Amino acid sequence: MNGDQRGTDTAPSFPGIAARATETDATGDIPPQNWKDIVDSGYLRLFHPPEFGGTGADGPAQTEAMEALARACSGTYWSATVSALLCGKLISTYGDPDGHRRLLDPLLTGERLAAFAIVEPAAGSDAGTYRTTVRPAGPPGGGFVINGEKARITNAPNADLAVTLARREKPAGDDGPDWCLAFVDLHGPGVRRYETPHMGLRGMPWGGIVFTDAHVAEDDVVPVPFTELAEGMTWGWLLVSIAAIATAESALSASVRHARERVSFGRPLAHMEGVQAQLAESRAQIDAARLLAHRAARERAAGRSAKDLIGMLKIYATEMAVEVTARAVQIHGAAGVTQGHEVERHYRDAQMNVIGAFATNRLREQVAEGMGLGPAVYRAFDWLTPTGLAHAPSGLDGLPGPAEAAS
Ligand SMILES: Cc1cc2nc3c(=O)[nH]c(=O)nc-3n(C[C@H](O)[C@H](O)[C@H](O)COP(=O)(O)OP(=O)(O)OC[C@H]3O[C@@H](n4cnc5c(N)ncnc54)[C@H](O)[C@@H]3O)c2cc1C
Repeated sequence: MNGDQRGTDTAPSFPGIAARATETDATGDIPPQNWKDIVDSGYLRLFHPPEFGGTGADGPAQTEAMEALARACSGTYWSATVSALLCGKLISTYGDPDGHRRLLDPLLTGERLAAFAIVEPAAGSDAGTYRTTVRPAGPPGGGFVINGEKARITNAPNADLAVTLARREKPAGDDGPDWCLAFVDLHGPGVRRYETPHMGLRGMPWGGIVFTDAHVAEDDVVPVPFTELAEGMTWGWLLVSIAAIATAESALSASVRHARERVSFGRPLAHMEGVQAQLAESRAQIDAARLLAHRAARERAAGRSAKDLIGMLKIYATEMAVEVTARAVQIHGAAGVTQGHEVERHYRDAQMNVIGAFATNRLREQVAEGMGLGPAVYRAFDWLTPTGLAHAPSGLDGLPGPAEAAS
């Protein structure tokens, strides 16, 4: 499908996974057959060039396959794509091209599953406050140990490997980056996992990882300047945007079907002006998001960053899907809010994409920064002043400024 074509309502390329989607959502577990179907389809290899064990599909082919899987089952899509695409790209981009094939290859064959662990219980959008640390283990074993807790992580309960962002406790004289990616084996001692029940994407495993002096091999700690990591994380924004487009498309297809079949006041809902306007609005929004996604995928495939473009896409596509799925629920009436109904699931799934992989409000600041509007700078919060921003704006009669308040 070209970027300027509308989404089609043809059978998905993963019919078995689609047929199991309601059950996957209800049980909160991805059936083993889903993994078999994904591996057999070659999906996990699409995102990497042959020299990294992939099939090197071009940008549009990748996006089409992603949308097809996400349409079949969004929770399954998230789990598989976080592992093979996001974690795979982080390993191949920041790791050693040869040495880390031992970590990358099993992700592409589906033998192992990876998680990308950044967010912590007390720190999400505000990356500067992450606390997880990596320090040299010292003799006799060498290598490193990692301590801290990561929370709300896709695949955390089931993953074999965590690509983990941590601060480096640097020995004297080490003037390398303050941050690193640690490739942590989650089956080793010092690792505890837990599940977090969640509103949507219920098949997707989601939860926390607690590291207590967990060992990390010498070669598996890769120092990376924090600013350079954004490039790798952009894959996550793209992944989530496509999930949103797929969810919106599924919700619209269901709405069109229902509007044609449901008769009220002697005519199908589809013949009513108000319903038509809602469906047309959804159609236009989804196609606009898909056009943006295909443009972003082309840029990426051509080796360009497209970070700002993908940031805009993430904002537009994920918030658009919330609107489209809300309309779908409304068009379905009470059926739409009945547990187990397709659009009820899409509605819950859509909201997850707005928050996952960077909340859109925070992303707006990054897009503004890309427009040359300067980075969003927050002063330390000061509980003593009326605004909390360590200065009293003019016009606040009689209220003390920070110097007076502190004295
Ligand atoms: C489906 C899903 C999957 C996820 N998977 C992963 C994963 O695999 N790995 C991982 O590390 N994390 C993952 N997360 C966590 C996710 O990255 C964080 O939830 C997200 O970054 C927001 O952090 P927070 O939830 O702590 O919200 P907070 O940072 O507490 O923000 C709360 C709200 O405040 C607003 N806000 C915050 N900062 C600003 C700002 N500067 N300007 C304007 N508004 C602001 C936003 O609206 C935001 O939604 C996942 C989350 C979801 C929902």
